[in-house]
Amino acid sequence: MRRAICPGSFDPVTMGHLDIFERASLMFDELIVSVFHNPTKDRAMFTMEERVAMLEKATAHIPNVRVTAFSGLLNEYCKQQNTHFIVRGLRAFSDFEYEFQRALLIKKIDHDLETVFIMTNAKYSFLSSSGIRELAAFDGNITGLVPESIEETIRHHAINKY
Ligand code: ADP
Repeated sequence: MRRAICPGSFDPVTMGHLDIFERASLMFDELIVSVFHNPTKDRAMFTMEERVAMLEKATAHIPNVRVTAFSGLLNEYCKQQNTHFIVRGLRAFSDFEYEFQRALLIKKIDHDLETVFIMTNAKYSFLSSSGIRELAAFDGNITGLVPESIEETIRHHAINKY
């Protein structure tokens, strides 16, 4: 079975992420979308559990997607899940340097791991989780920018938090 992991913070999941999941799900038998605890991004808006719940809702229509959460080293998690493929989305040049370093670092740690990049859909190229967090915090319109099934959850959460 050809299985891949798509790791990220997904704080929260956006239409840009969902587009990557949909396209990657056609390339692999199973796609594991995994919320990674990233200690360098500790000012999260949503808990790991909330992010997993939103991802489950947003990906319910993709039968070969499984949502998990993980904290630790990505190469160890890939081994545990029996996969050699990591899927990442690429937006602009600004993503490239970070992703390039990350992909080479993981290759250095484990030569069997391949990072596969999927180019953003042009209509979501400007979209980021941090942009959504900012918009939602000030009650801005997030319709069409996040999956419809979780729009209300995000709006409600942001209004109560700020
Ligand atoms: P991380 O904290 O690991 O960067 P993110 O949740 O911000 O996690 O993003 C996860 C992945 O999705 C990254 O590869 C990122 O480049 C990609 N991504 C984020 N937004 C978009 C978008 N609008 N279009 C395509 N890929 C995206």
